[in-house]
Amino acid sequence: MRILVFNFGSSSIKYELFDMRDRATLATGLLERIGESESRLCHRHRNGSGEFDEIIDETSVADHRQGMDRIGAILQQTKAYQDPSDLYGIGHRLAHGGEAFREPTLIDAAVLETIRGLTPLAPLHNPVMVAGMELALAGFPGVPQVAVFDTAFHHTIPPYVYHYAVPRELYRSCHVRQYGFHGTSLHYVAKRTARFLDRPFDSLNQIVLHLGNGASAGAIRQGKSVDTSMGMTPLSGLIMGTRCGDLDPAIVFHMARLTGWSNEQIEAKLNKESGLKGICGDNDMRVIEQRAESGDEAAQLAVDMYAHRTKKYIGAYYAVLGHVDALVFTAGIGENSPLVRARSCEGLHNLGIAIDPERNSQRSDEVFEIHADGSTVKVLVVPTDEELEIAKQTVERIQAGGVGRS
Ligand code: AMP
Repeated sequence: MRILVFNFGSSSIKYELFDMRDRATLATGLLERIGESESRLCHRHRNGSGEFDEIIDETSVADHRQGMDRIGAILQQTKAYQDPSDLYGIGHRLAHGGEAFREPTLIDAAVLETIRGLTPLAPLHNPVMVAGMELALAGFPGVPQVAVFDTAFHHTIPPYVYHYAVPRELYRSCHVRQYGFHGTSLHYVAKRTARFLDRPFDSLNQIVLHLGNGASAGAIRQGKSVDTSMGMTPLSGLIMGTRCGDLDPAIVFHMARLTGWSNEQIEAKLNKESGLKGICGDNDMRVIEQRAESGDEAAQLAVDMYAHRTKKYIGAYYAVLGHVDALVFTAGIGENSPLVRARSCEGLHNLGIAIDPERNSQRSDEVFEIHADGSTVKVLVVPTDEELEIAKQTVERIQAGGVGRS
């Protein structure tokens, strides 16, 4: 049962092919710099002895259509599948499902139209993903395709949380409300945590911190999302690689008045030049930690600000949940930075959160615990796998819809 997962970015296509009988990755790749003179496709596939072979192709790719042709060709050439009809289904990551999509959804013309209508809510993310879905529908005719929305897991957030304190009219006319993102990752990680702790998913209260280039905190009560740090867009909340996170909204008007920048220029500043990069010039936490270690003040400030913001959300979500069973770190920084984990939990022992330095210094591709003996909250590191979660939800949706093939 082969499932191909696509994640389309503005100049990239990420893909992964799974055999869902044992959830093994058969092939995976990333095509970057689409539209530039030097594109780069890094493709890995399992060879006869079960190891991964890697192919790098740096021929230029003019657009996403050519990119899809290149990916289809390399998948067939490396025998990931013989024919597109070998695929049981295709899963697509969709950034924004608005209020319309609360579940993984089989893609047809009407669904595409509804998703297109959500563009004003996610102008930077949805259009390229919709264009990608159209290319996949044309390239893989007859293969069921499912959209999995980053916002869907958060549909259980109650109205007193998702409304902003602005005139109600803005909700009705402009759909201004919190939606939340990273839902696929938060859901996957929270379920994996429950399995690790051998507890029913719907019996646990968890705070999940997805700390990657994008970052989200999620408060999950008995298996349901009840609050999250991203808002109407993925710009709010935690400090991210290049996104500012929480900000006094009046700063935007102040900038416009003083600089004369357009909306688009300010949007780009806050999305692409802020966050860690804005504070210290780098957005890779590995580099920032090294710089801080060698006495670089800007890098130290970035680490201090990052940990402070993260800690603030831990405290806030502790208050929201009342009782917390597990605090979970995931994604690139959450899984790999003992320093950020330690600093974010520093001084929280009165909340029952205490980290053991030795356990925290481990590295593993598996789930591991880092809390100290006596910590009433279990603190864990749980690797995320958004692609696998999309593949799982794709299978479930196809089977529920009775459109699956054997
Ligand atoms: P993601 O978006 O989940 O792929 O996370 C990417 C980010 O994880 C990178 O920008 C790095 O800052 C961070 N990262 C990856 N490995 C490490 C590491 N060993 N230590 C600190 N940060 C890391």
